[in-house]
Amino acid sequence: MTESMTSDLSAEDIARFGDKPAEAFAANMQAVKDRIAAACLRCGRQSGDVRLLPVTKTVPAHILRHAFAAGITDFGENKLQEARNKQEVLADLAIRWNIIGHLQTNKVKYLVRFASEFHALDSLRLAKELNSRLDAQGRDLDVFLQVNTSGESSKYGLHPEDLLSFVERLPDYPRLKPRGLMTLAIFSADTERVRVCFRLLRDLRDRAAAVHPGLTQLSMGMSGDYEVAVEEGADVVRVGQAIFGPRPTPDAFYWPGAIPSSINGDVENSS
Ligand SMILES: *Cc1c(COP(=O)(O)O)cnc(C)c1O
Repeated sequence: MTESMTSDLSAEDIARFGDKPAEAFAANMQAVKDRIAAACLRCGRQSGDVRLLPVTKTVPAHILRHAFAAGITDFGENKLQEARNKQEVLADLAIRWNIIGHLQTNKVKYLVRFASEFHALDSLRLAKELNSRLDAQGRDLDVFLQVNTSGESSKYGLHPEDLLSFVERLPDYPRLKPRGLMTLAIFSADTERVRVCFRLLRDLRDRAAAVHPGLTQLSMGMSGDYEVAVEEGADVVRVGQAIFGPRPTPDAFYWPGAIPSSINGDVENSS
């Protein structure tokens, strides 16, 4: 870590991230990777098959320079505006931006300028707009189809029953490169209820892949449930708080009507 980076920390930053953020993030990454490896061992998978996508929402841009210094180069962001602001400030770094949250159609034009992946495709209207904006830019985009596997009205995503007819329409949007399915499990301390959501996504993936061979991956699992997700076949886990610490914003900001944050909150003390 360089001098200029240590001196850019405010008292507030130090209270939230410590006085050596790069070291803390690297240690947390390793701890998460170790737990992924242990989960893989339990179910006979190779830990190299699981991709850890660090979720950087609410972490300020200047702190993300420390994350980058710690070797983190893939950032997952839920809100497009926040991602855009950070991307502008960090344009000098070779970062891959992954947009993982619900997207309004009027924000598509910004996403196609800098995003490498989009994990929350959930309507044909959005597919159409993405495809035409991508076409204008002469580029493709890796996408995951978000499915609402918990049945909670607070969660975005396609209804499971609508998934296959949606998949059949994907060839109409050739700039979209479908990679797999994405979900948020129910927020519950009851692991078996969480597992049911992940199993449903896996079953849906098996059926979807028969219609569209590109749909092979499962993007599922967060700080509170990524080990269960790995046991159920996750290819990508999206982990924020276990790497960057608890967020100041309540989860209801991302999932309207959600849940006490203690349930999905920090893993060290998860109940
Ligand atoms: C914030 C977020 C995550 C990660 O949640 P953590 O609790 O920080 O691990 C995963 N997926 C999506 C869509 C998110 O918005």
